[in-house]
Formats: sequence, structure tokens, C-alpha cells
Amino acid sequence: MHTNCEPPVFALHARFVLPVDAPPMSDAAIVIDGGRIVDVGKVDRHIETVALGNAVLMPGLVNAHTHLEFSSLNSPLGVRGSRLCDWIAEVIRWRQQMDDRPPPESGWRSDATRRGLAEALRAGVTTLGDIATPPVDPVCYENSCDSTVFVEFIGLTRQRAEQRDRIIRSHFDRPYSGKGCERPANVVWGISPHAPYTVRWDSLVGLCRRSSTEQVPVAMHLAESADEAEFLRSGAGPFRELLNRLGAWENDAVPLGLTALDYLQVLAGASRTLVIHGNYLATESIDFLARHADRMSVVYCPRTHEYFGHSRYPLEHMLAAGVRVALGTDSRASNPDLDLLNDVRAVAKNYPAIDRETILKMATLHGAAALGLAEDRGSLRPGMRADVIALRLPEYSSSQADPYAFLDDPRCRVERVYRAGELVFTGGSC
Ligand SMILES: [Zn+2]
Repeated sequence: MHTNCEPPVFALHARFVLPVDAPPMSDAAIVIDGGRIVDVGKVDRHIETVALGNAVLMPGLVNAHTHLEFSSLNSPLGVRGSRLCDWIAEVIRWRQQMDDRPPPESGWRSDATRRGLAEALRAGVTTLGDIATPPVDPVCYENSCDSTVFVEFIGLTRQRAEQRDRIIRSHFDRPYSGKGCERPANVVWGISPHAPYTVRWDSLVGLCRRSSTEQVPVAMHLAESADEAEFLRSGAGPFRELLNRLGAWENDAVPLGLTALDYLQVLAGASRTLVIHGNYLATESIDFLARHADRMSVVYCPRTHEYFGHSRYPLEHMLAAGVRVALGTDSRASNPDLDLLNDVRAVAKNYPAIDRETILKMATLHGAAALGLAEDRGSLRPGMRADVIALRLPEYSSSQADPYAFLDDPRCRVERVYRAGELVFTGGSC
């Protein structure tokens, strides 16, 4: 990691600036003072300026959904195109193998999380939402991306649910950040009831209540597969068979005949909700999310969606309805890397009718808003934290005025990452 060598007040100048909540600017500069953006616009010769040339400056990216504990994987688990429940069986097997390793490998989750954070930062991600298996060591997130860590709840039997509830509560009981305290300043807690087929209905109700009391966000996988809808409708199908095989099912765990909309109505009681995936949300659910867009968002994970070969994602429908859609990489168990720009590029390629400004907004401002951080980051304007990234543009574009050229050229890498005005990564090329 590179250390800051910039003075307290300095400017970054590039061929293009993409503020995200304002039109693109050319030949523009961002002035940074004490870690905050104080001006965006023309160059002021009196301010020390880092001239980046044929590059584009934009806000640090927000990866709204990942599971960093899988970041030691070199390739996704299972087989491309496999059923979600078969892939989950693979995940359980892999986790068990990792847990069974003798020390020092027993700290594998924290090691993988650190590795994933470093990868995310190199990819221009300055803020992320991570789902983590408890007990979570918040210290492994220190000095990296700002992380909302959603402590995962899995439990269908009453006994397991009570046990998990106690563990989750212990995270909130820990003292807040500051000297000598356990939680670094760049970490905030969230809660993640995993999915409808792994969480008791009464637990979900309780966790949403806790979210509201503690004012912490909730992230839940919902409407991810067609099999999930069958499980909710009839209590049968591949998910139920998997749960029976694992001995994880209890008859009163989830009432029969529920739909994704029933879940959304409970999740609306949380202080803030990230609906992860939502691949198979029906129109009534999409309309519900649009009506609650101030506190509820959907996180689309394009390359994970492709990995499982789901039906076409209803992205145009959601955006037209007014749903706030953020982007996530998901984990390395279903995506070959944590480079969010590759997911942004997948959206640009598969949805040519969606304008590029909106696509970039999904990876920045919408992600920040989903996590409840949009007042502070996700766009470049005075008052915001100076989380800024620079991408070198392809040389051939020197005669073309397209600030979004990097979306078509995967060779364009992140060249610089500033976090609160501090240079934390340099590299990349085009
Ligand atoms: Zn996930």
C-alpha cells in the first residue's frame, strides 16, 4: 500500500471528471482539503495539482454485496450453470473442509477477508457491504475499504436460531470504535438473515425489529432462484430435499404459502434493507420496492447471475419502476474476481439501452445510498469525502471525447485510489 504524499490541500486534474450526480466535465479538477472535496470544476493555478492527463476521475466504487470470507478461492465453486441448491451443497462442503483444518489455518476467514479487501481496493472499491459468518473479527477490516459488515444469521431449528441470535447480539454489545475498542472506525455492523430457505420466519421478524432498534441495515438474499419460490409456495422441491438431507429442517420454521412480497413487507420494518439478487421478483414486488426506495434497495450481481444461468435480470423493469438498484460482485465462490468494474462492464454490454451514467450510478451513488452512506460518498461534489479513483483511458480515445470509454475496454485499469484524500493505491494501465 502506498502512503500519502499529497499536501493537505491539493487538486487532481484529468481529461474527464465524472461526478455521477452531475454531467461529465472535461479538462476538470477536484480540489481536496483535509480529506474532503471542496471544489469540482476548472483548474486553479494557485493550488498544487496532480495532473493525470488522459484519465477519468470518478467516485470510489461501492460494492454493495460480497462475502469476503471466500476470497482465498482461485475459481468459483461448483459448475457454471448449476442449480443454486447444488452449489450451496458445494459451499457447505468447502466450508467444512476449511473449518476442519488445524491451526494456523483456523483463522482462514480473517485471512481471506484481508485478501479480499486488498483485491477490492485495487479494483477501486472504497466502500463495501460484506456478509460474514459470526463470530466476526472486525479488526481484519482495519485500514481498508469502509465496510458495512452484515453478521449472517442462519437457523431453521429453534435451537440453532437461539444460538445464532445470542452470537449476533454479542456483536452489538461490543463497545464502539475509538482507542482501545474492538471495532475499527471504518467498520459498521449490519444484520443478514441469509435467505428464506435458511431462516425461521419468527427469527426474521425479530431481526428486522432489532435492525430498527439498533438502526443497523439488513441484507437478505431474496428471490434468487425459481426453486426458492417453489419452496415458499409448497414447502417442497430441491431446497427442502437439501434441508432434509442436512437435518436442518423443522416443521414450524417457515409458514406455507409465502411469497417474496410477504418477505419484503417484513423487511420494510428494518431501518434499511438491501435485497440481494431479486432475480425473480414479480411486478408487485418491484412496485413495492419502488414505493420504499428511500430505505429499500436491490443489489444486482451481474456475473454471479450469469454464472447460474438465471433468466434475464429485470433490470430495465426495476429502473423504470423507480427501484434503487446497486451492484455487487458477490463472492469468489460464484465470480472469478472481486473487480466491480467487470460487473459494471457486463451491465453495459448486456443492457445497451440503459444509459452509462445510470450504470455508473449503480456502482457508486446507489450503492452508497443502499448502505445509508450517500450523504457522505458515492458522488463527487463539495462536502463529500474525497474517495476518488482515477482510470487511465485508452490511447486511441485521445481523439474521441468519450469519458465512458473505459466501460468498453477491460484493459483500462484503476490507476489511483484515494480514500478520504489519502492515496492508498497506485498501479494499473491501459
Ligand atoms: Zn450472497
